[in-house]
Amino acid sequence: MSECSVIAETMPLLLTESLDPAQREQTHQHIETCATCAGEWLATRETWRVLETLPRLKRVSLEAEVPRGDRSRPRRTDERRPVPAPRRVALAG
Ligand SMILES: [Zn+2]
Repeated sequence: MSECSVIAETMPLLLTESLDPAQREQTHQHIETCATCAGEWLATRETWRVLETLPRLKRVSLEAEVPRGDRSRPRRTDERRPVPAPRRVALAG
Protein backbone atom coordinates (compact mmCIF):
# COMPACT_ATOMS: atom_id res chain seq x y z
CA MET A 1 0.00 0.00 0.00
CA SER A 2 1.44 3.35 -0.95
CA GLU A 3 1.83 6.06 1.61
CA CYS A 4 -0.72 8.21 -0.20
CA SER A 5 -3.46 5.62 0.20
CA VAL A 6 -2.58 5.32 3.87
CA ILE A 7 -2.86 9.07 4.21
CA ALA A 8 -6.17 9.08 2.37
CA GLU A 9 -7.52 6.54 4.85
CA THR A 10 -6.15 8.57 7.72
CA MET A 11 -7.84 11.80 6.67
CA PRO A 12 -11.20 11.09 8.30
CA LEU A 13 -9.37 10.27 11.51
CA LEU A 14 -7.48 13.50 11.22
CA LEU A 15 -10.73 15.38 10.80
CA THR A 16 -12.29 13.76 13.81
CA GLU A 17 -9.03 14.17 15.74
CA SER A 18 -8.82 10.47 16.39
CA LEU A 19 -5.10 10.25 15.72
CA ASP A 20 -2.38 10.23 18.27
CA PRO A 21 -0.04 13.26 18.05
CA ALA A 22 2.71 11.36 16.23
CA GLN A 23 0.40 10.04 13.54
CA ARG A 24 -1.21 13.40 13.24
CA GLU A 25 2.14 15.08 12.72
CA GLN A 26 3.22 12.47 10.20
CA THR A 27 0.01 12.85 8.24
CA HIS A 28 0.24 16.62 8.18
CA GLN A 29 3.82 16.45 7.05
CA HIS A 30 2.91 14.18 4.18
CA ILE A 31 0.02 16.39 3.15
CA GLU A 32 2.28 19.42 3.13
CA THR A 33 4.81 17.75 0.88
CA CYS A 34 2.51 15.80 -1.43
CA ALA A 35 0.40 17.67 -3.96
CA THR A 36 -1.92 14.71 -4.48
CA CYS A 37 -2.71 14.39 -0.81
CA ALA A 38 -2.90 18.15 -0.34
CA GLY A 39 -5.67 18.28 -2.94
CA GLU A 40 -7.35 15.29 -1.40
CA TRP A 41 -7.14 16.83 2.03
CA LEU A 42 -8.72 20.08 0.86
CA ALA A 43 -11.55 18.16 -0.76
CA THR A 44 -12.05 16.00 2.31
CA ARG A 45 -12.08 18.99 4.60
CA GLU A 46 -14.52 20.82 2.38
CA THR A 47 -16.81 17.80 2.24
CA TRP A 48 -16.61 17.50 6.00
CA ARG A 49 -17.40 21.18 6.48
CA VAL A 50 -20.47 20.89 4.25
CA LEU A 51 -21.61 17.76 6.07
CA GLU A 52 -21.25 19.52 9.40
CA THR A 53 -23.53 22.32 8.26
CA LEU A 54 -26.27 19.93 7.24
CA PRO A 55 -29.03 19.29 9.72
CA ARG A 56 -28.90 15.86 11.23
CA LEU A 57 -31.06 13.60 9.21
CA LYS A 58 -32.75 10.49 10.32
CA ARG A 59 -31.09 7.46 8.97
CA VAL A 60 -32.94 6.50 5.84
CA SER A 61 -33.58 2.86 5.49
CA LEU A 62 -32.56 1.38 2.20
CA GLU A 63 -35.58 -0.87 2.40
CA ALA A 64 -37.78 2.09 1.59
CA GLU A 65 -36.40 2.15 -1.92
CA VAL A 66 -36.72 -1.54 -2.53
CA PRO A 67 -40.25 -2.82 -2.73
CA ARG A 68 -40.91 -5.59 -0.31
CA GLY A 69 -41.54 -8.87 -2.04
CA ASP A 70 -42.08 -9.29 -5.71
CA ARG A 71 -45.76 -8.71 -6.19
CA SER A 72 -45.66 -9.00 -9.94
CA ARG A 73 -44.92 -12.68 -9.68
CA PRO A 74 -48.08 -14.74 -9.34
CA ARG A 75 -48.21 -16.89 -6.31
CA ARG A 76 -48.19 -20.56 -6.88
CA THR A 77 -51.10 -22.15 -5.16
CA ASP A 78 -49.47 -25.53 -4.88
CA GLU A 79 -46.47 -24.13 -3.11
CA ARG A 80 -47.70 -25.23 0.25
CA ARG A 81 -48.62 -28.82 0.41
CA PRO A 82 -50.46 -30.11 3.39
CA VAL A 83 -48.19 -31.91 5.76
CA PRO A 84 -49.15 -35.55 5.75
CA ALA A 85 -50.64 -36.58 9.02
CA PRO A 86 -48.50 -38.96 11.00
CA ARG A 87 -49.58 -42.49 10.63
CA ARG A 88 -51.45 -43.71 13.58
CA VAL A 89 -50.36 -47.00 14.87
CA ALA A 90 -53.38 -49.09 15.27
CA LEU A 91 -53.42 -50.51 18.68
CA ALA A 92 -54.23 -54.10 18.67
CA GLY A 93 -56.81 -54.58 21.26
ZN1 LIG B 1 0.48 11.65 -0.82
